Amino acid sequence: MRLSPGGDEASMAQSEDPSDNRGVRPPPDVNPRRDPALDFPDKPFREMTPGDYEALGYMSGLEVHQQLDTRSKLFCRCPSGRRVTKVDAEVLRHMRPTLSELGEYDGTALMEFKTKKEIVYLLERGTVCTYEMDDTPPFGIDEEAVRIAIEMAEMCNLNLVSELHVMRKQYLDGSIPTGFQRTAMVGLTGSIPFRVPELGMDRELSIRQLSLEEDSCREVSDVGHRITFRTDRLGMPLTEMVTEPELLTPLELQAGGRLLAQVARATRKVRRGPGAARQDVNVSVAGGRRVEIKGVHHHRRLPLLVHTEAFRQLNLLRIRAELERRGVTRESLSVPAQGVPWEVSSLVQEVSTLIRHSNYQPARQAVHRGETACAVRLPGFAGLLIHPTQPGVTFARERPTGSGVIACPVHHPFMSHSDLGAESLSSQHWSQLARALGADSGDAIVVVWAPGEDAATAAREVLIRAGEALVGIPPETRQGFPDGTTGFERILPGADRMYPDTDTPPLPIADRMVMEVRAGLAEPPWVREDRYRGMGLDARAARGLAVAPWAGLFDEIGPGKGEPARRLAGTLEKRIPFHSRRRRGAKPRQPEELPNAERLGPAVRALEAGEILPEALSRVVDALLEEVDRPAEEVLARYRRGPGDEDRVLAAVEEVVRRAALELDGRAPEVRLRWAMGEVAPAFLGRVAPLEVEARLASALGLNDGKEPTP
Ligand SMILES: [Zn+2]
Repeated sequence: MRLSPGGDEASMAQSEDPSDNRGVRPPPDVNPRRDPALDFPDKPFREMTPGDYEALGYMSGLEVHQQLDTRSKLFCRCPSGRRVTKVDAEVLRHMRPTLSELGEYDGTALMEFKTKKEIVYLLERGTVCTYEMDDTPPFGIDEEAVRIAIEMAEMCNLNLVSELHVMRKQYLDGSIPTGFQRTAMVGLTGSIPFRVPELGMDRELSIRQLSLEEDSCREVSDVGHRITFRTDRLGMPLTEMVTEPELLTPLELQAGGRLLAQVARATRKVRRGPGAARQDVNVSVAGGRRVEIKGVHHHRRLPLLVHTEAFRQLNLLRIRAELERRGVTRESLSVPAQGVPWEVSSLVQEVSTLIRHSNYQPARQAVHRGETACAVRLPGFAGLLIHPTQPGVTFARERPTGSGVIACPVHHPFMSHSDLGAESLSSQHWSQLARALGADSGDAIVVVWAPGEDAATAAREVLIRAGEALVGIPPETRQGFPDGTTGFERILPGADRMYPDTDTPPLPIADRMVMEVRAGLAEPPWVREDRYRGMGLDARAARGLAVAPWAGLFDEIGPGKGEPARRLAGTLEKRIPFHSRRRRGAKPRQPEELPNAERLGPAVRALEAGEILPEALSRVVDALLEEVDRPAEEVLARYRRGPGDEDRVLAAVEEVVRRAALELDGRAPEVRLRWAMGEVAPAFLGRVAPLEVEARLASALGLNDGKEPTP
C-alpha cells in the first residue's frame, strides 16, 4: 500500500492529535503504567531477570541513524563520507531564540539561549559549500540516497509514501548551522521477524517509520561559552529507523539494535566504522516518562545504559514520593520570572562576602576571581540531595548537571550543598547561611558560584531543577558514559519541532524507481537464514552466516546442499577471520576485503565431486589463501585423491614403521602410533581419511588387535 500525499502530510502536521492513527505520532511520552514500583530493590544488571523488568514496567524503543554510502550529500553535491582535518575558513555564529511558526518559544531554544553560546564552524573547501552554511537553498534530493532508503523501507515491509515531503526538524544545539535538519518520511508502519533464540524470542518487531535525513556537524570541542564543529559530515544522508517501544528488557533492546543494523547492512550500501551508525534509545518505567539517551555508537553498550536509566527513573520517583509526603509544592520553589533572583526572592541570597571568608577553597578562590556566590534554599529537601540516582551519582549531581550545561562554568566545582555537611563549608558557615535564608533543618541549601549573570542563571536553574523533582522524570535527552551512567544533555524537544520546508516542493516517488528497487532488493537477513537452513545448515550456523560479511561469497561459490554447504559455511566462519587478522590485524568488514569466489570455488567443486575429502576443505582454503601466487589448480592437486594413493599410503606406513623401530625403540606403542600419525597423516590430508591412515599404522605397529581398517 502507498499513502496518498495528502494523507501523510496531514498526519505529520497533526501528530499531536491522539485520535490520529493514520500516521506518525511521537512515541508515547508517558509510560502506560502509572504505578511506580517504589519498593523494588536496586539491583545490579547481572542479577536482573526479565520478570524484574516487567515488575518495573520497563519499556524501550530505538531510533537508529545510519549513514548511507552515497557519493554526494543529501541536498547538495558536496562529496559524502570524506573526513577532513584541514581548515580553510571559520564561521562564528551566535544562537538566539526566535518565535516558532506557532508563536511560541521552543523549550529547547530557550535553554540553548540561556547558554549564550558562541558557535564556531570549521570549513574545508572540498567538503562544504554555501548550502550547508544556509546561503543557498537546497539542491535536488540525492536520488541514490532515496533509492537506498526505499530499499530499507521495502525490507521492513513499510508502507511507502508516494511523495517525499521535506520537513524541517528544529536542531538548536548549533550542530546544524540553519537551526533545522531537513528530513523526509519514506515509509511507515511495518514489521520484521525478530528471532532471538538465546532469549527464547520469535515474534515480530514493529517499525514505526523510516525517514531520510541530513547528518549534523561533528563536535570538536565544547569549552565554556564556545562550541566548535567541523562541517565535513554535515548534510550527509542518513536513514532514521524508529521502532515501537516494545523492547521489554535491556537484552531485547540490544537484540533489536543488532537486528536493525543487520537490515541496514544487508543493503551493502551503508557506511561502516566509528560513528556511521548511532542509536538513540527511549526508556521509561512505570510511573515515569520517555527519556532519550542519544548517540550510542554500539548496541553492546545499550543494556547497561538503559538498566541504569530505569533505576535512575525509579529513584527520581522515590524522591518525588518523599517530597509529596513532606508537603513540598512547586509554588514553594518558585521565583518571580523577572529580576535578579536574590533581589526578588527570599529563597536566594547573594553570599559572596560570607564565602570570601570561608574555608572552602574552590568557592573562596572563585569569589577572589571576581565571581558571584549565591545560596539557594530548597524547602523540604534536606537529605534528598544525597539520595543516589545512579551508581556513584546523587540527586544533587543529577540535577545541577543541568545548571552546569546552562551556566557553562569553566571552573569546577561550581556548587556545593548542605547535605554534604562539613565536606565543603564548615558547619558554622552553613549555620550562617541557614540564618540568612531563614532555612530550618528540613531544608537543603545549595551554594553556587559563577561569573556575574551566570550566577543568577545558575540559581534559577537550581530551583527549576528542584521543581522538576516534583514532576518526577523531567523530559530530557541524556548522553551515555562508558561506565553505563548517563548525564543530562538537553530538554527533550517538543512535538512541534517539525514544520514543512518551504524551499522544497513535494517530490513524487516514481513507480518506476520503486519497481527498480524491488527488482534489485537485497535479501533480508531472516530470508537468508531460512534459505541456509534449507541447504542443510543447523540453526546456529544459518543465523551466523546470514549476517556474516562473507555471506555473499558463500552464495557466489554456491555449494551443493548438505555436506558441501555445511563444510563451506564452517570453513569460512573459522578461516576468513583468521586470514583477515593475519593480513590486517582486523576482521573483514566489507565484501571487497574478502577472497574472491574464483579462488575458492574449485576447492568446493572438488569436494562435491568427491575428489577431496570433507575434512580437507579448511586446509585447502588455507593453502589457497596463503599461497596467493600459485594457481588454484596447482594447490588443489596436492589434496586431490588419485589412483596411486593406496600404494603411497602403504609405502609411507612401511617407511614410518621402520623409522619408529629405530627412533622410538622401547617407547609405549601408543606413543609410537601418535608420532607415526603426525609423520604420515598430513601428507595424505584430503586424499585418505585420517582414520584409515591410523588403522593402517596401528595394524603395522601391531596395535589394532585384528580390527579392520576403517574404510
Ligand atoms: Zn555542500
